[in-house]
Amino acid sequence: MQHVESLYIHWPFCTSKCYYCDFVALEQHADFQDAYHETLLQEIIAYGASLGVKPSIKTIFIGGGTPSLYPPEKLHELFALLHKTFDLTQTSEITLEANPADVTEDRADAWESAGINRISCGVQVLDDAVLQRLNRRQRSIDVFNAAKILPKYFSNVSMDLIIGMPGVTDATWLKTIETLCAWPIQHLSIYFLTVHEKTPLYFKVQRGDLVLPDEDALLNLYEATVAYVASKGFMQYEISNFAQPGFASQHNIGYWQRRPYKGFGIGAASFDGAQRTVNDKNLTRYLDNGKTGSFIPLELETLTPQQITMERLMLSLRQASGMPLHDMLECVGEKQKNSLIASLRDLELIGLLRIENDHVRLTLRGMILENEVVLRLI
Ligand code: SF4
Repeated sequence: MQHVESLYIHWPFCTSKCYYCDFVALEQHADFQDAYHETLLQEIIAYGASLGVKPSIKTIFIGGGTPSLYPPEKLHELFALLHKTFDLTQTSEITLEANPADVTEDRADAWESAGINRISCGVQVLDDAVLQRLNRRQRSIDVFNAAKILPKYFSNVSMDLIIGMPGVTDATWLKTIETLCAWPIQHLSIYFLTVHEKTPLYFKVQRGDLVLPDEDALLNLYEATVAYVASKGFMQYEISNFAQPGFASQHNIGYWQRRPYKGFGIGAASFDGAQRTVNDKNLTRYLDNGKTGSFIPLELETLTPQQITMERLMLSLRQASGMPLHDMLECVGEKQKNSLIASLRDLELIGLLRIENDHVRLTLRGMILENEVVLRLI
């Protein structure tokens, strides 16, 4: 077991639920916020009591849900406890996810004074009709407002987008990208829309009420987007992540490098280098844990050697830095080495990866098709 290096804290409350959401997010539960906050503190205290020494933490991420709705005075209480429990003197990155509609001067000031130094702002697309159809709370004007306020308080601002939402024209998408790239922000995350089963979006697509874009057209648009943001200094360092030099998310890189982390709150995952655990997603049961002071994760997964191999490949290849060829060859047995090399050559020939200087890197198409690439390699 390795020392935990990063913390994830989950704030699950949302004012309304976006139709595409499959996160652990609760609408109409605002009455439970205080109890949840108290339980989070207890979970951290219980974990702290199990530690011999205060681990030195490199990064913290407060995700949700909508953590920009975390009452600022409670957020300060949370950080006071984190300082007591962990050594935060070397913590370089503390991120809070924010809905643009919640960004005000007062809140930004409170976040900064709590110790947060990076904001991840959920923009999705600058098209109010599309946002409304997907039950997303903010409007474009909120994003413009957030873009004015956040750089005054934070020198590390990420804006998060979703490509492929139904009803977004190429012109609107490219205008969104152009607008964001002109702002003093340091990071962009651009995710493909995923239609998760049993979400309202899924049923709307099934009924034909909403129509998804054509896949080939979407891939072309993604390639044009990557080229445009690169021309503005945002270099791709992972399938969905782009940063100005020096602003790649250290927290996320920790996940991709399989560094140990600890998660607090409902549905939060933890990893100690060998085992992954996931907290209960049920709010009532989580609050009950607070009463007994016993926080036993619901799921515990010990990875088999094959799963570790698969995970290492997936997590390495999704990054622009790729994977050293000799590391990849170590992932397979002696007998499979030749067939792995043959698969690599085939994938290189069809333009899905490049092998340069003993290093395997996926091309942009290869990254988009990463699952298929990894399946062909193993
Ligand atoms: S704001 Fe985020 S977590 Fe909340 S419903 Fe929308 S997508 Fe889900």
